[in-house]
Amino acid sequence: MQIKSKLPRVGTTIFTVMSGLANQVGAINLSQGFPNFNPSDRLQQLVYEHMQRGDNQYSPMPGLLPLRERIAEKMERAYGRPLDPDTEITITAGGTQAIFCAIAAFVHPGDEVILIEPCYDSYRPSVETVGGTAVPYALSAPDYRIDWAAVGRLVTPRTRMLCINTPNNPTGTLLREADMLAISRLLKNTDILVMSDEVYEHLIFDSEPHASALRYPELYERSLCIYSFGKTYHNTGWKTGYCIAPPELTREFRKVHQFNVFSANHPMQAAFADFMADPAKYLGLPEFYQRKRDVFQQAMANTRFRAVPCSGTYFQLYDYSRISAEPDLDFCKRLTTEFGVAAIPVSSFFSNGRDDKVVRFCFAKTEDMLERAGELLARV
Ligand code: GLN
Repeated sequence: MQIKSKLPRVGTTIFTVMSGLANQVGAINLSQGFPNFNPSDRLQQLVYEHMQRGDNQYSPMPGLLPLRERIAEKMERAYGRPLDPDTEITITAGGTQAIFCAIAAFVHPGDEVILIEPCYDSYRPSVETVGGTAVPYALSAPDYRIDWAAVGRLVTPRTRMLCINTPNNPTGTLLREADMLAISRLLKNTDILVMSDEVYEHLIFDSEPHASALRYPELYERSLCIYSFGKTYHNTGWKTGYCIAPPELTREFRKVHQFNVFSANHPMQAAFADFMADPAKYLGLPEFYQRKRDVFQQAMANTRFRAVPCSGTYFQLYDYSRISAEPDLDFCKRLTTEFGVAAIPVSSFFSNGRDDKVVRFCFAKTEDMLERAGELLARV
């Protein structure tokens, strides 16, 4: 039997590969992005209470209404946009599933999707699964600055979507107001949609605001904005997120979502709805993660790695060109097996595997683990 792969160049994701290797050799795992600490006890307790109360069957397809109402309140407070929970918010089985549905609902075979690279590794396979073509625009370290005129030159009559991500995984950079206005101008009078991946919305440092697509009316009109509870409440394994989009876009999004997962975890949604009534539960996040970034940078100060500036997310890039010329994947594997710290090679975030000798560390970890990682990496 001949199997005709839809993704012939795709293997197992780098997150699974590196976490697997880290577990196998007992290394500190700073590769795949997830916290090594638990979500709030109260939140866990709420999940259990809802399970006991009987919230164990399917939730409504778009998600529990009380949760969508809490999200609408939060977004209006944070970004000044009133939202209709009925027609603009859909709860998903995590950010990655929302990204897939946002792409699958709108990208037709032969359509082009502009990706700004380095970018999260699910974007391109999502585009290709539905027969689209990814058109990458590659940025360079250390500032990864975007020239929107150059992005504009990639637009063709087949362009269906532009994928943006702020704060950015893996670079730790932000899109700012000028970027969002430039995107609005660039796409004005076109039918091009925007997939705005904002899953790290609360992980922004040095008191900067989050330039959400929700803040810009002309941009929001054409946007599917993606969020993640996992990043905000320290429970990436609960796989719960959401998509916010204007009613016409949400209608199409849900057509795909309903036949992809139908609905997300019911007891988790019910617990989040209760928990979100208190904004204090997420408003402290920038300081919480900024401190971790600083502790990690401090722990790395005695190493030969060179830090790339990090303004957001829980990822910190380091240039290792002073240490080695080996390919970044080999270097990451060697760091894991010989030095006991796992990282992600940034070449995995480029379509063409470009290797700038930069690796990504996740600092969503307890301070003792970050300090220990710094000690181990000082030996490299
Ligand atoms: N978003 C997280 C990361 O970039 C993990 C994603 C995953 O494991 N699929 O590390």
